[in-house]
Amino acid sequence: MSATPVTLQPRPIDTRPIDPSVDHEIQAIVAGETTAETCNTDLAAGPWTFDTRPGYGPGSSMGDVIPTGAPRQGQLPAEYREADEAELAARIVAAKHTLGERVVVLGHFYQREEVVTHADYVGDSFQLANAALEHPDAEAIVFCGVHFMAETADLLSRPEQAVILPNLAAGCSMADMADIDQVEECWEQLSDVYGDMDAPDAEGLLPVIPVTYMNSSAAIKGFVGRHGGIVCTSSNARTVLEWAFARGRRVLFFPDQHLGRNTAKAMGVPLEQMPMWNPRKALGGSSEAELADARVILWHGFCSVHRRFTVDQIAAARAEHPGVRVIVHPECPMDVVDAADEAGSTDYIRKAIAAATEPTTFAIGTEINLVQRLAAQFPQHEIFCLDPVVCPCSTMYRIHPGYLAWILEGLVAGEVRNRITVPADVAQPARVALERMLAAKP
Ligand code: SF4
Repeated sequence: MSATPVTLQPRPIDTRPIDPSVDHEIQAIVAGETTAETCNTDLAAGPWTFDTRPGYGPGSSMGDVIPTGAPRQGQLPAEYREADEAELAARIVAAKHTLGERVVVLGHFYQREEVVTHADYVGDSFQLANAALEHPDAEAIVFCGVHFMAETADLLSRPEQAVILPNLAAGCSMADMADIDQVEECWEQLSDVYGDMDAPDAEGLLPVIPVTYMNSSAAIKGFVGRHGGIVCTSSNARTVLEWAFARGRRVLFFPDQHLGRNTAKAMGVPLEQMPMWNPRKALGGSSEAELADARVILWHGFCSVHRRFTVDQIAAARAEHPGVRVIVHPECPMDVVDAADEAGSTDYIRKAIAAATEPTTFAIGTEINLVQRLAAQFPQHEIFCLDPVVCPCSTMYRIHPGYLAWILEGLVAGEVRNRITVPADVAQPARVALERMLAAKP
């Protein structure tokens, strides 16, 4: 597969202030040292406390239902659970030094600071998967993110490279909301409504083009690839929807209803032509007439991090900080995007702040680890999270420095732990869907 140009540069190590970090703030809240609030005091515990329990663990997704077959992480050895932050940091640095060019560590924007500080690259999921391509000789790619991201890195990397997820329980509740069996069932029901899904009409348009957000399993990307569809990111969703509308009457968009709705609405698609597909209801909960009229069928998925942001929070930010610039992620609900000044991907948010030449107050609607890091990186601005409650992404939070140390020391000892591999029959069509995205032009 040809790669997109990599915009990420290797991150200079040790330039980022580690304190105050979200982790330290949570510890202070639980110790009663601050009046700030966290959504769950269990966040102060090590994630290994939750490895043997079902569920996503504390944080934004704790109310979501985890699929029964979701991967579980085995118990982390006691030496890693019991080591303090300084010891773990020293062990990670030593293991990385020993491994040298044999390993590349990737850190997602939403990852805790104590892990990101050891990352060679920091970025969003697709930037990181592409950054790994800059290291074709690395034997191991350690992806400090969530499961679908490691799968994407495996799709793009060379077969002999091992992609590693430090904690197997780091899934993504949104990606899990589009289950491949439910998606296949949906396609079958849609074919009962629209007829032959592979037969173009008189204008050469297919009945439905499936589009999946990058935040989906490899199985869903494979499904999309097999059915003439495409992958999108939050940066290129509009371009991808234009690509799809040039080929089909309508789009089936999963898993994030909000990204689909916000993008299609901005393109002028009326809300009444965007029915939701609830996989637990016949025809997704819509009538045949509604589906016949549909332009975008939205899968019933969402991100529990971005669903926490509200119009009331924006109103409070404007009241307390006159002139505040409110930027939210397009995974936020439509009313929140409408009430904000701007909406854009993590990359958009970062660039918007970096481009501000005058000291500015920013209220940001995205994951708190990124917001706090931006606040530390741009001290000339006042930057705060719209949500006053400290509530990180539950699954990103499952990656702790203890797991990273365990993975890296395993590699030093010649042992590859927690390798993520996409089966060949899924990988081939999934790569086709990704290649279509890379070729789609604005
Ligand atoms: S922030 Fe939302 S979409 Fe991103 S990994 Fe967490 S749950 Fe998934």
